[in-house]
Amino acid sequence: MERISVAEARRAEAVGRQAELNGWVRTRRDSKSGFSFVELNDGTTLANLQIICDAELANYDSEIRRLSPGCSIRVRGTIKESGGKGQSTEVQAEDVHVYGWADPEQYPLQKKRHSFEKLREWAHLRPRSNTFGAIARVRNSICRSIHDYFLEQDFLYVHTPIITASDCEGAGEMFKVTTLDLEMLAKKSTELDYKFDFFDRPAYLTVSGQLEAEIFATALGKVYTFGPTFRAENSNTSRHLAEFWMVEPEVAFAELPEDMDLAEGLIKRIFADVLNRCGEDMQFFNDRIDDTVLATLTSIAESDFERLSYTEAIALLEKADRKFEYPPQWGVDLQAEHERYLTEEAIGRPVILFDYPSTIKPFYMYVNDDEKTVRAMDVLVPKVGEIIGGSQREHRLDVLERRMREQNLDPDDYWWYLDLRRYGTVPHAGFGLGLERIVQFTTGMGNIRDVIPFPRTPGNAEF
Ligand code: ATP
Ligand code: MN
Repeated sequence: MERISVAEARRAEAVGRQAELNGWVRTRRDSKSGFSFVELNDGTTLANLQIICDAELANYDSEIRRLSPGCSIRVRGTIKESGGKGQSTEVQAEDVHVYGWADPEQYPLQKKRHSFEKLREWAHLRPRSNTFGAIARVRNSICRSIHDYFLEQDFLYVHTPIITASDCEGAGEMFKVTTLDLEMLAKKSTELDYKFDFFDRPAYLTVSGQLEAEIFATALGKVYTFGPTFRAENSNTSRHLAEFWMVEPEVAFAELPEDMDLAEGLIKRIFADVLNRCGEDMQFFNDRIDDTVLATLTSIAESDFERLSYTEAIALLEKADRKFEYPPQWGVDLQAEHERYLTEEAIGRPVILFDYPSTIKPFYMYVNDDEKTVRAMDVLVPKVGEIIGGSQREHRLDVLERRMREQNLDPDDYWWYLDLRRYGTVPHAGFGLGLERIVQFTTGMGNIRDVIPFPRTPGNAEF
């Protein structure tokens, strides 16, 4: 007998087929006239498949009538047209086998709805809930769109290292990687000598694959890297994780406007694909989580992003009829409250801010002729704020060295990065898109911890 998924069995074309299905029981209802309805889910769709189990089945009294949420079963039977609402097919069971029971006295995911906070404590079970199943499928669709978008434009997918000796932002907030005996160090507090450490030097978990992506872009043209990144920032917010995924394209012979086009195109492609491929899941998010997500994604997929220089943004903020906790001021980094005002209220759709003061941005960004600003860009969206940060990179050796010194970095530590400017330097640009931020925006989920399978945040790494 052919094994098919719940998704396949729910299609009208499946009617008449004999098939085998495997999955988990969501609910069981017994009718008075001697048969039971079992709702089966296998993760391939949000919706369940209704299984009709007649009392004549051999194990009807001994097993089927004991099925409860979470039990795993195999069903063999015939797919029929269904009269029930919300479904076009159902299965008339001919054989039901129970793989595993789930004690209803103990299984945590009974019918009752749990808070997302509670579900975080059950990260091993929450994928079985409707919300987390839908998130997993939408996240998967987004990853596929990311690869499709770049590969269709002849980008090369490169893998940059997770362990690194360089700090991309020239700042702290990195996790250290070491094989030194920390207990010994803690007890003796002798001077640290990295000659005894695994890499003969301090090493860290990467905060970005950008610098290494630049190595490949300046040899192979258009590349992207997509993998986990780590930040030890102790920020307990609804949009920061200690471990998150980032996609980072890097394009040779490109300047900032092209970089912005690439970013805008990526976001629109992701939304168009999600609306196409995950209609049922998106309807669920619209009904249950945020009743604006469908309209928002549709309108973003079709409209142009506003492009606003940092200087123009500050002017808008200064004349805003609104009291900010931090008064906006040219030369000072924008706070989340400013970003949200711009995208939610002043503009009302995604905004790309560009040309930031050089003093608040890292050394590797291209310095404009005004000498005061650099070619940075951030993409801001309503509710989430920043989802992309990028820039045109400084490709002039002398300017880059000057910027490093200004930021108290030793150019010798970055000899290989400077070599890229010494030998056949080219203008180039790129950006970083936080995967979880875009999943958050797409689904309307309020907390970033609920859009990654196993969230890592200060104090949390159980699973
Ligand atoms: P923020 O100001 O929001 O903390 P950032 O400016 O430090 O972000 P970048 O260094 O520009 O972030 O990183 C590029 C992208 O990576 C961001 O636009 C965001 O989408 C994502 N990102 C950065 N930090 C985190 C984090 N701690 N958790 C999840 N995503 C993040
Ligand atoms: Mn940023």
